[in-house]
Amino acid sequence: MARPQPSRDNTTQDTGREACPCGGLAFDDCCARYLERGDLAPTAEALMRSRYTAFVRHDAAYLLDTWAVRTRPASLEFDDAPQWLGLQVKAHLQRDDAHAEVEFVARYKVGGRAHRLHERSRFERTDDGRWRYVDGDLYD
Ligand SMILES: [Zn+2]
Repeated sequence: MARPQPSRDNTTQDTGREACPCGGLAFDDCCARYLERGDLAPTAEALMRSRYTAFVRHDAAYLLDTWAVRTRPASLEFDDAPQWLGLQVKAHLQRDDAHAEVEFVARYKVGGRAHRLHERSRFERTDDGRWRYVDGDLYD
C-alpha cells in the first residue's frame, strides 16, 4: 500500500508541496489520490473531504462521478462559485456498511463576506464499493 518515500528534511519538505484544500496533508498525499489517481475513497469522510477539494478545484467531473445517480445534477457550473476558505469535519456516523453521514462546516466568501455552510451529508456505498454523496440537511 505505502509507496517508498524519499527521506525528507526540513529544507525540502515544503518545497513544491501544495497543502490539500481539505485541511489534511499535502495535496499529493491527500485528495490527489482520489481526484487524480483514481483510488476509491475508503470512507464517507474521505469522500466528503475529496469532494470539498473538488469544489475548490472546480473539478466537475469528479463531483458528478461521486454523486448518487438519483440526486446528481445534470451538470455543474462554477461561474458563481464562492471562494472556499476551509473545511472542518465535525462528525462521521457510520450507519451500516452502505450508509454513512458526515457533519461538516465549510467556510467560504462571497462578495467579500465570509459565510459558513454547516451541513450533515448522507452518503451511500454501492455494490461496486464506491461511496457517493446523496443529499444533505443544513443547520441554522
Ligand atoms: Zn485532502
